[in-house]
Amino acid sequence: MATSHHLEFPGVGGSRIPACNPPHVAPNVAARVTGVPLQFSHAFQPGGLDRAAHLRGTEPITADPSARAFVFWRGKLLADADNQPLLVALDHPAFVDCREPAVFLGLVPDGPRFAAELSLWHPQEDAATIGQFTDQTHQVHPGFAGGRLVEIRGLMPSLNLLDAECIATGRALLGWHGTHRFCANCGAPSLVEKSGWQRQCPQCATQHFPRTDPVVIMAITRGEKLLLGRGPSWPERMYSLLAGFVEPGETIESAVRRETMEESRIAVGEVRYIASQPWPFPMSLMFGCMGEALDEAITIDPVELADARWVTRTEVQSILAGTHPEINAPRRGAIAGALIEAWAERRI
Ligand SMILES: [Zn+2]
Repeated sequence: MATSHHLEFPGVGGSRIPACNPPHVAPNVAARVTGVPLQFSHAFQPGGLDRAAHLRGTEPITADPSARAFVFWRGKLLADADNQPLLVALDHPAFVDCREPAVFLGLVPDGPRFAAELSLWHPQEDAATIGQFTDQTHQVHPGFAGGRLVEIRGLMPSLNLLDAECIATGRALLGWHGTHRFCANCGAPSLVEKSGWQRQCPQCATQHFPRTDPVVIMAITRGEKLLLGRGPSWPERMYSLLAGFVEPGETIESAVRRETMEESRIAVGEVRYIASQPWPFPMSLMFGCMGEALDEAITIDPVELADARWVTRTEVQSILAGTHPEINAPRRGAIAGALIEAWAERRI
């Protein structure tokens, strides 16, 4: 895992399908792997959002009376008591707390959808843990009665696919704006354009576009055994697949082999791509892969991992059933869990 980024984890990947547009044959079916669908019971699969790029930067789209915004604050989402997103009109008075205009996500059957970030709002509380995936707190903005700002990873199991796609897009896009307010070429403050899909430098005219960072996440196997690891800051009993950022000049397959070697000193032979998942924490795209280990002796990199171990397929089945004595079931909603489950069931 690259040390220059803070990477945290979803989970799973890899097969013989091409790396572009796997056939999304139905909701919750992410990809077909050797003829068998890989089931994803999670958020961030295609949900039907029409991105309508031709409408970006046009006035009529913001004037549409059915336009609504998802509301974000430091990566958290405004949700109701049932953990469903609370959508508000674009002229909501609380949007005085937005530094920049809402970004246009696209069209859904009910109308245009936007995402707004309350970046100027500061609550009266200690915010040290906000944004961590262990964050259990929620915040209440005085402008939104009945709403609270909650960590998105905790909402994922309760979101429908369309809302989840909007939220993944909005969080990643707003996260990019939050950290790219100044021109990377000359340092001048840049301006939002194309309804949030571009920033323009008024001084040197450089255009800047939203980033997506590729990450590999891999189910490394050795016969009937699967490699799991845990990061130093993870909750107790939480294990997942190894993962890491793809580096410049690298293929996905090379990244799988390099990251596995760096973190565990295990050499990997054949690598197969399985499926992908947008992971907007802050703006990654996870490439889920399978890799065949060429040896078994583990030597962890203590900077990246607190532990790594081989678990048998029988053990993985008990992990998924919640009966393993030392390892919890993977979080719902992330590709890691879907890959682990697919391997346990011999679907990949
Ligand atoms: Zn510039």
